[in-house]
Amino acid sequence: MKLGIVGLPNVGKSTLFNSLTKAGAESANYPFCTIDPNVGVVTVPDKRLQVLGDMYTTKKIVPAAIEFVDIAGLVKGASKGEGLGNQFLANIREVDAIVHVVRCFEDTNIVHVDGSINPMRDIETINLELIFSDLEILERRIAKATKLARNDKSAAKELAFLEKIKNHLEDDRLAKTFEDIADEEEENWIESYNLLTYKPVIYAANVMEDDLANDGADNAGVQAVREYAAKENSEVFVVCAQIEQELAELDEEEKKEFLEDLGLSESGLEKLIRASYKLLGLISFLTAGEQEVRAWTITDGMKAPQAAGKIHTDFERGFIRAEVVYYDDLVGNGTYQAAKEKGLVRLEGKEYIVKDGDVILFRFNV
Ligand code: GDP
Repeated sequence: MKLGIVGLPNVGKSTLFNSLTKAGAESANYPFCTIDPNVGVVTVPDKRLQVLGDMYTTKKIVPAAIEFVDIAGLVKGASKGEGLGNQFLANIREVDAIVHVVRCFEDTNIVHVDGSINPMRDIETINLELIFSDLEILERRIAKATKLARNDKSAAKELAFLEKIKNHLEDDRLAKTFEDIADEEEENWIESYNLLTYKPVIYAANVMEDDLANDGADNAGVQAVREYAAKENSEVFVVCAQIEQELAELDEEEKKEFLEDLGLSESGLEKLIRASYKLLGLISFLTAGEQEVRAWTITDGMKAPQAAGKIHTDFERGFIRAEVVYYDDLVGNGTYQAAKEKGLVRLEGKEYIVKDGDVILFRFNV
């Protein structure tokens, strides 16, 4: 999963990005590394992994991971090529979801590009750039469909559909709030356009330390963002980038104490990961053995062969069956063998829908 961090200059994007990636970069086991300073890998905290690791006296624990991309430089006029605008917009096209950082903290030492703190205006400024960029994509599609429409019924239908989305965006609305989708064909079309404003969004309301404990309830800016996000089915998470930066410097024990002092039960990183899982409808299944205990991220509702395909394409192609035990059943019985003797290890076929916390052994033909 790849999340792109966007927002106006000076809202706290880099502070947040640096603290998240620093705090989450502990796992030396993670199999891929990147040298791009704007990309960071964060592992998904999951207490179940250590428990299984102890049970199997495993050599290696590999948590699920999320890739963050710091997409700086999105300013007013970006879609018209201001600065390096278009390049930044191209970077956003590649992410699964957008984390939109919004400044809700006052600090007279830190200049706001538009002179004052106004989260809703900031959101609209960024969204407008995304809309402009999407309109360009639609124009290109429309030109293509217009050429084909005379002799091609499907192209004619698509042309009409494109025009409707275009009208929607021209009213300053996001593609994700476009509801006039008649059938599966149209659903597939709108997905294939890869529009920026069709992507899931998490608004990160960057607040002052004082606003953290009650989750921004006293901050009018945060409340406005919440109301707005609810209308477009987006998530909001309240964070103080400055505190995250301090947290990232601490070890586990100190971190726990610091969070308790602030009246918090989890760090911003943990909150953000939970919000992303919820928004994107993600779950984790687990594999466990002496060589490796590992968490895999999949979409909720995915069937066993596709889940197997996350591990290796051969597993999906040659899928025979899955041996599945719930994490609680496995841990509750102490060993795999004991769970099996109680009939808690199930044999599941191609139609089985994988659940969060399933511990799975795939059987497959090569
Ligand atoms: P970016 O341009 O969006 O990447 O913003 P930066 O992360 O560089 O932050 C801009 C300035 O705001 C820096 O001086 C940060 O130290 C400061 N800043 C970031 N987050 C907070 C915060 O939560 N509270 C306060 N008071 N300052 C912050």
